[in-house]
Amino acid sequence: MLKDEQKIENWKKKALHGRYPHQLEQDHVDQSASSTWLTKGNIFGETEGFMVAIQDQVIKTRNYSKYILKETIETDKCRLCNQTTENIDHITGGCSVLAHKEYTHRHDNVAKHIHQLLALKYKLLDTHTAYYKYKPRNVLENETAKLYWNRDIITDRTILSNRPDITLTLKDSKTTYLIDIAVPNTHNLKQKHTEKIQKYLPLADEIKQMWHQDIVRIVPIVISSTGVVPKTLSAALKLLEFHKNTYISLQKSIVIDTCSIVRRFLNPSTLTLQTS
Ligand SMILES: [Zn+2]
Repeated sequence: MLKDEQKIENWKKKALHGRYPHQLEQDHVDQSASSTWLTKGNIFGETEGFMVAIQDQVIKTRNYSKYILKETIETDKCRLCNQTTENIDHITGGCSVLAHKEYTHRHDNVAKHIHQLLALKYKLLDTHTAYYKYKPRNVLENETAKLYWNRDIITDRTILSNRPDITLTLKDSKTTYLIDIAVPNTHNLKQKHTEKIQKYLPLADEIKQMWHQDIVRIVPIVISSTGVVPKTLSAALKLLEFHKNTYISLQKSIVIDTCSIVRRFLNPSTLTLQTS
């Protein structure tokens, strides 16, 4: 195993060749947090290397075969959806065939993690379960808090977006948090955050009146499909009064899930199953 500093150094050197540094240098990106998975994630070396290759876009997609390796191939369209060019961004976050199951699974792993942390924090649960085994209950409630998982909020007025991933109400302070998770590709981080806020504004207004709340906060939890962390994430975790390192386990679960999605995509035997 390489020393941490060496890993980051190699990673930076490699990244110089790709689009990756531009993505990291954007104002809204937390550069230091974005590389934590390499040093503190405790991820297997093989997965680590594979994620670096995904970030550097040196994965043998059809687009890569055709335009970088200059191989003669019939089409560079996606082998699953056949809709658009098959590049790495398409596989990590843009394929309609992967959206239903694979991306949802990755998203839910992050959501489950947050849900369990809240349930434990507000004593709605007393034992911790590994996140991949954790099955959130739709409603958890005690004298101080109420926690919904993926549940429609019934309103008087018809509201289009009425089901945040997680809804937390703290009874004493009359505060409700509408928590919604997104795992977009890196170039969509900023837009996703804004989108989530706008999406739940009408519901926030409605809940404030209907449930007689003093404060309703919309809390988007957004990390990119390759583990890039926007600065908004630490603010979101702080709002929920989580430890500042909470993002590390979220990032780790995304890195592992994205690697698995890309591996399975490139594996022909899995493909036959998915397209048949
Ligand atoms: Zn596709």
